Order: sequence, then structure tokens, then C-alpha cells
Amino acid sequence: MTIEHAGAVSRRTFLASTGLAATAAWLGPPENFLVAQEPSGGSAGSGGDEAGGLVPTFRKQAQTAKITVEKLRPGSPGSPASNISILIGSGGNIAVLHGKDGKLLVDAGLAGSRPQITEALAGISAEPVKHLVNTHWHFDHTDGNEWLHESGATIIAHENVRKRLSESTRVDPWDSTFPPSPAGALPAFTLRAAGAKDGAMGMTLHLNGTAIRIDAYQPAHTDGDATVEFTDANVIHLGDLFWNGHYPFIDYDTGGSINGMIRAAESNLAKVGAKTIVIPGHGPAGGKAQLSEFRDVLVAIRDNVAALKKQGKSIDEVVAEKPTATFDAKWGTFVINGELFTRLVYAGV
Ligand SMILES: [Zn+2]
Repeated sequence: MTIEHAGAVSRRTFLASTGLAATAAWLGPPENFLVAQEPSGGSAGSGGDEAGGLVPTFRKQAQTAKITVEKLRPGSPGSPASNISILIGSGGNIAVLHGKDGKLLVDAGLAGSRPQITEALAGISAEPVKHLVNTHWHFDHTDGNEWLHESGATIIAHENVRKRLSESTRVDPWDSTFPPSPAGALPAFTLRAAGAKDGAMGMTLHLNGTAIRIDAYQPAHTDGDATVEFTDANVIHLGDLFWNGHYPFIDYDTGGSINGMIRAAESNLAKVGAKTIVIPGHGPAGGKAQLSEFRDVLVAIRDNVAALKKQGKSIDEVVAEKPTATFDAKWGTFVINGELFTRLVYAGV
């Protein structure tokens, strides 16, 4: 699998699949990105800081990103509001739990959005950020780690997040090599997952009147995925184990796979109830129905691609057969289109 994927999802393929619209959608409402530069690619083997590449483009756009705050269960007469909000617009969705014990954030957004994120957090409540949980190591979820730690947050994540952030880490489809992160950006508390089932290893925090269950997963989107469940509020953040209404990226370079994504989706479906609010890494908050549909799409496309590959077809021949066709209009309009998702799946079947 790891040998095949290098040719299966090249930098060229990924960059060809992501244009201005997708880039804008990654970070927020399109009106903020009308002057954005389309990623130009750059040379192979260069770093994530290369001007004009995909990752630097996202980081640059983060500086002007507009952050939207969405309160979950805002409350109605007779039912209390929850103290959980989502910040949308800088990288992956950021969940915020606030209260007298200080804020807990799930994911950190992009560092360039620090002023807007700071303002959004201040608009929710005055308490400082005391805890930050990373759902996985990807830059659009951990880029803000360093400044949040400097501001007083203790970082918690799967042990492989610390490992990936400690080392130089290459993601071929993004044409990016991420240098080791500064010490302050590394998780101080880590969860082990080796040899366990999804959710068998984890920890529970008790803050702001709710239990917060953090579960470590077996390799799925990466090899360091975790979910965060606000037990009393019946809200769960699944990170990039769930993209609501969008094909997901799958990071084979750091241990992800399509079958891991499907297994994790099954684990999460078993975990959530009919009234659970399910926060995805990307896309709007949803519920069990949207998560179930996401699982169904992954399974259907995995089976389509596997059947074609079994016939001996090359990756380009499988792409030409359009095994995602029935889903593309709804699922293929974000960062990952039908062709790229086919290539990501082909690499793992
Ligand atoms: Zn990710």
C-alpha cells in the first residue's frame, strides 16, 4: 500500500484537483477569498514554506479568513443552552467549551488567523484557553498550537501527533515537507492506541460541568486520530474521521487508509445517538444521519474501485470509469473531487 500510493496520488494530481474554489472553501466563506492566488505547485521535494504551494497558500489566506461562531444547542425556553461553540473558517472546525475552568479547544486552526480566533474566543467569554486537544497532526488542525500553548493551553493528543510534529514529515499530495514543530507546539499529554480497538484507549477530563472523553483510534485518516466527546452535552468532534458532505482527504503518508476510514466511521456510528451533534473536521455540524451517509459513500466507492482494480485496471483506467460518478455532484465539490478521491481509494484496495 505504501509503495503504490506514491504513484497513485502525485503532487501534480492533487494540485490539479484543487483550484481557487476548493482552496477558498477549505478556509471559509468564498467572499473572503476573491483575491486568493491559485496554488502554482512549485518544485518537487521542496518544503511546506515554499511560496505559492498549496500549504503556504492556505496559510496566507488564513490571515484574512473570517471566523464564524456557531453556538450549539443555543437553548430555548425551558432548555438550557450548552456551553459549546464551533469556530468555522480557519482550517478544520474548532470546538470551544467554555466555563469557569477555562476554555477547552478541539483543534487549533491556522496560526495566521490568531487575531480573528482571539477575537472570536473573547466574544464567547472572558476565560483563557486552558486546554487544547488535537484531533490529528495535520497543519490545518495544529498550526495554532504554538501560540495557544504560549497563551497558557496544555495540549493533549494521540501519541502519534507528538511523534509526527516532532519530526520532519512529508505529505506528497500536498507537496509539503513539514519541519519539526517548536517544542511549545507539541502535545504535553499523549494517548496511546497501540494494539487497541478504536476508543479502547483514552482519557476523560471533567471541566466546566461536563465530562470530556478523548478517544484514540487505530490508523484511519492518519495514524494519530482522536475524537472528543462532550458527554453531558451529547456533542462529539470527530476531526477528519468525518467530512460532512465532502470526500475526505486520506493521508497514506502518515498511516491513513480507506479501510481505516471506513472502520473508524463504523466505530463512530456505534458511538453516536439519534440526538448527538456530530462535528466534522470539515463541513457543517451534522448528526448520525449525515455520518451514516458518509460511511455509505466511502463503502460504495471503495467497493466500486476495488472491483475495477481486481479486474487488473490501472489507476488511470479506473479513474476513466468514474466510479464516484453518482456521488460527485454532492460530495466532490470541496478540496477533494471525484478523480482525486478515486486515486486515494485505489491506493488502499
Ligand atoms: Zn486532516
